[in-house]
Amino acid sequence: MNRSRKLQSVCEPAGGGDDAKVSAVSECGVAPAVKEVNLLGLERAGLEAFFAALGERPFRAAQVLQWIHQRGVTDFAAMTDLNKPLRARLAGSCVVRAPEPVSEQASADGTRKWLLRLDDGNAVETVFIPEPDRATLCISSQVGCSLNCSFCSTARQGFNRNLTTAEIVGQVWTARHRLAQLDPPRTITNVVLMGMGEPLLNFSNVVPALCLLVEDLAYGLSKRRVTLSTAGLVPMIDALREACDVSLAVSLHAPDDALREELVPLNRKYPIAELLDACRRYVAGRAHRRVTFEYVMLEGVNDSEAHARRLARLLRDMPAKVNLIPFNPFPDTAYRRSAARSIDAFRLVLLAAGLVTVTRTTRGGDIDAACGQLVGRVRDRTRRSRRVGEPAVECNP
Ligand code: SAH
Repeated sequence: MNRSRKLQSVCEPAGGGDDAKVSAVSECGVAPAVKEVNLLGLERAGLEAFFAALGERPFRAAQVLQWIHQRGVTDFAAMTDLNKPLRARLAGSCVVRAPEPVSEQASADGTRKWLLRLDDGNAVETVFIPEPDRATLCISSQVGCSLNCSFCSTARQGFNRNLTTAEIVGQVWTARHRLAQLDPPRTITNVVLMGMGEPLLNFSNVVPALCLLVEDLAYGLSKRRVTLSTAGLVPMIDALREACDVSLAVSLHAPDDALREELVPLNRKYPIAELLDACRRYVAGRAHRRVTFEYVMLEGVNDSEAHARRLARLLRDMPAKVNLIPFNPFPDTAYRRSAARSIDAFRLVLLAAGLVTVTRTTRGGDIDAACGQLVGRVRDRTRRSRRVGEPAVECNP
């Protein structure tokens, strides 16, 4: 929490609701910052509650959702189907603010990457990956990550903070806006939460963002086209099923607990058997749904045919799809990418066992936009980043 926000909550006048504009100098003698609600971060139910509190009818939520997410309008004055007093009221107490792109890079293969600046000076990266049959946006859910997976570059910077709902959905809002300006314009057909962070550790902000992605009045994507990737927080997988059962991807990376603990320390808390039970519960009763298992291919670590056979055994009664991800190296890592022939041999073992298996092609490598290369920028040096001697880079406004 930053200092001014802390002061504000201490000094807040009684009765100041979330939508209140705080303008008086408080008893502490400090002028609190103006409190604004960012409507970009409210999903339909939240927006309906917001308008109800203003004494407005629920259909206002539907109108505002369309203005913000479908038409990309941020200026309340332009929301012409709202009456003028309401527009003025919203302009006085709310904003529609998405993270701003500070840089945009385009890869030779069409992949695009944006560095987006957040209000507190932190920044995250968002990647657009066009393919012949779809166009996927990969978004982040946290600045940094606390899970410390040994092969992931985000782990190097430690955990900084959770993204707000507005910052999560704002990545889609901003990318959509930029892609619409291309010639020819591009549309996002799929969204994956596979960027920085562990989405299930930011559950309360991630779920409303998912709701907006699948909301017809906002982005209108089908649940099959929105995928949340997790390192395996078992209780939150069950909670996700109840809250918004989008497609689930699980970062498995190893066929046994000993090896998985080395790669994904979270496995000590939620071992493979418990994780796979949670996956079964997630898809139970949902026709044509299956879990995607991600498996990063690390030379000499988890990539032998024996590993593949064990993996096939593990997943034999699971509605599963396996995604093999060739490791993307980053500075100072001891891991190497498996050779193409090892990846092929591994895949053939899984295919022979009847598992749908694809090798993910590395995209955007020339702009450091591939899996595990999204490091973003953090404002604060974490203890951990100091320990590994990595400079924490600030996003220069
Ligand atoms: N915390 C979530 C989402 C972020 S990681 C999760 O663990 O699933 C998204 C995917 O990228 C995961 O499957 C992760 O294992 C993979 N990944 C991370 N670093 C990588 C690297 N250096 N090379 C290839 N894939 C990597």
